[in-house]
Amino acid sequence: MGKALIIGAGGVASVVVHKCCQNPDVFEEICIASRTVSKCDALKAKLDGGKTKITTAQVNADNVPELIALIEKVKPDIVINVALPYQDLTIMDACLATKVDYVDTANYEPEDTAKFEYKWQWAYRERFKEAGITALLGSGFDPGVTSVFSAYAQKHYFDEIHSIDILDANAGDHGYPFATNFNPEINIREVTANGSYFDNGKFIETEPMSIKRVYDFPQIGPKDIYLLHHEEMESLALNIKGIKKIRFWMTFSQNYLTHLKVLENVGMTSIEPIEFEGKQIVPLQFLKAVLPDPSSLGPRTKGKTNIGCIFQGVKDGKPLTYYVYNVCDHQECYKEVGSQAISYTTGVPAMIGASMVMTGKWKRPGVFNIEEFDPDPFMDALNKFGLPWHEDFAPALID
Ligand code: NDP
Repeated sequence: MGKALIIGAGGVASVVVHKCCQNPDVFEEICIASRTVSKCDALKAKLDGGKTKITTAQVNADNVPELIALIEKVKPDIVINVALPYQDLTIMDACLATKVDYVDTANYEPEDTAKFEYKWQWAYRERFKEAGITALLGSGFDPGVTSVFSAYAQKHYFDEIHSIDILDANAGDHGYPFATNFNPEINIREVTANGSYFDNGKFIETEPMSIKRVYDFPQIGPKDIYLLHHEEMESLALNIKGIKKIRFWMTFSQNYLTHLKVLENVGMTSIEPIEFEGKQIVPLQFLKAVLPDPSSLGPRTKGKTNIGCIFQGVKDGKPLTYYVYNVCDHQECYKEVGSQAISYTTGVPAMIGASMVMTGKWKRPGVFNIEEFDPDPFMDALNKFGLPWHEDFAPALID
């Protein structure tokens, strides 16, 4: 069918590449391009020889002219952005200039401000529409699958959804005293920021990690969960009709939180540059350099993830509760694609989102969040490509 340009060669990109190669009718050809070309070449060496033709390239995705030159050379049908959120706007600019569709998994965040929101990417709506190209925002797991779950619940089960609790549990154990499961810089910026939840038309801010509950997850068991701000709440608050409350919960162990507190207290999670031996360094970037590389956690991580949504609302005038979730096993992911479940649960939906646009099922000019499209073909593809989902109409609720 066509050709994708994949930007980034980290944990998530590796899964995207594996999954594109498992779907060669859609991805006849892929080009893997990143800052460090040797990482792209290593991925190519692993997967070459199948039906999907693979090429590689070096690119600095902060540089729009470089991106344009690459897109003009490769001539892809779509660009899959699995670099970092800092590169979202430059890659969107290059897609606009070359009239190529765009998919990402995380919303834009300026490097010097730990604040992610959609306003910067939504500002591209008119220009994408006029150019006749599609931008699909947030096609990972959360955001991504959680938003598709919301569209599916709205389409098939509810007249009105009143509340959504998004629950993200990782019961994986990598054996290190402290490590993050995806890019440490992005991960730590997310969890040290203020929390927030949506309540009757507005977002209420909370102190970081100040709201805690315990939830008994299917196939995992009871875990401490903490309320966080998460980007999909911003678009779901607009796109799910009648919605009154949205909360996002993530599991953290006491051990993880203690390490994080110490690092925070000594200033290691700061993004303010400091002078060190005559050089400006950002403490959080230095911390990233000394922490284990998330892509090295695959062989060591054992246990499962469980990510899903509990919806409460009404159908035919009666109250209804619905829980839909996926359980993913770190070791099985590693056996299949050489990555742990966090990269797997992000990379599979990124490939599926790109295939939805490439096959025309979700092709519409403009900039869209994932819940704005028909969820059904995406839900089918989740079952087919390794992220099967389960339903429960009488789950335990969170107070
Ligand atoms: P990694 O740090 O493992 O990989 C990032 C890749 O991007 C690296 O290959 C890096 O290159 C490359 N890169 C960074 N800056 C540039 C640049 N300027 N030009 C070209 N390439 C660049 O991150 P992950 O794979 O863990 O995460 C990828 C994305 O997925 C992130 O945006 C993250 O926020 C998102 N994500 C989304 C989730 C979801 O559920 N929606 C969950 C988890 C992650 P180099 O190797 O040279 O540093």
